[in-house]
Amino acid sequence: HAKSKGRARYEVFDLETHTRVMAQLQLENDLRRAVQFLESPDTLKHNQFIVYYQPITCLKTGLIAGFEALLRWQHPQLGMVSPVQFIPIAEETGLIALLGQWVLEEACHQLRLWESYGYHRLTMAVNLSGCQLSRPDLLEKIDQIIHKSQIHADHLKLEITESMIINNADYVKQVLSQLKQRSIKLCMDDFGTGYSSLSYLHRFPLDILKIDKSFVSNMGEDGEHSDIVMTIINLAHHLNMEVIAEGVETLGQLKILSELGCEWGQGYFFSRPMDGKRALSLLENQL
Ligand code: C2E
Ligand code: MG
Ligand code: MG
Ligand code: MG
Repeated sequence: HAKSKGRARYEVFDLETHTRVMAQLQLENDLRRAVQFLESPDTLKHNQFIVYYQPITCLKTGLIAGFEALLRWQHPQLGMVSPVQFIPIAEETGLIALLGQWVLEEACHQLRLWESYGYHRLTMAVNLSGCQLSRPDLLEKIDQIIHKSQIHADHLKLEITESMIINNADYVKQVLSQLKQRSIKLCMDDFGTGYSSLSYLHRFPLDILKIDKSFVSNMGEDGEHSDIVMTIINLAHHLNMEVIAEGVETLGQLKILSELGCEWGQGYFFSRPMDGKRALSLLENQL
């Protein structure tokens, strides 16, 4: 019986599937190799990763309040591979541990550098993956990175998603509390796209809600999405959280968000993610 089942499955495993699986395996191998370079003494020469930074703008003053660090992989043959494609592979293979740590180090180091140029009040947001959050050495690593880069812990924001807190809620709550004890800020990313209940919002020590761009991009076209955004902003404020709107692309969206009392905006309207050098010149040009 098992045999006939196996054969049936084999038949579905056609050429197209084969090609796709091979491409996936190739990407996984390339990723493993690229991550290994991060640890080699020749890192600079071989490094295929770069952190981009996207400004987060204060809607009241129009000034850049900080940045979100967004990882980029420059694949030698494929060119830029999107994090949407390789972060899941990095998680499945455990490579995210090294990679995530590298992003944190790089982003904190960058923030320290900008501080040394006189930009003292900037914040840096870094995305955490579920795997990182469940690793027992997370706090130790973060402490090391903060110590080494000498940034203020309250200038560091860590972004997590709803799916990360529904599994293992008690453990996650404990880790988040320990991050809070260090004054690190915690953001709920992509808010509204998860399937969890809202009850976690007051059970976890979150500082900031990031409204997912799917709500923001549909705002203005119909009243419905503006109502949803308004409701999210009010909810956050009632729970003592501040709000970042993601995916702000138009002046119209910006105006609505300001009127609704949203604190910060992030999106192509302000700037695309860019490398550290260009992010610095953005800072220099606004003063
Ligand atoms: P995210 O954390 O929600 O980051 C925001 C994403 O929205 C970024 O995509 C950014 O480029 C994009 N974005 C910003 N403004 C706009 C806009 O106005 N319009 C549109 N259409 N998109 C906008 P990106 O850089 O491709 O990253 C995708 C996702 O990959 C991130 O979503 C995050 O979940 C993940 N990611 C990126 N870097 C890291 C990392 O270092 N670690 C981990 N664990 N995940 C990462
Ligand atoms: Mg994020
Ligand atoms: Mg997001
Ligand atoms: Mg996202």
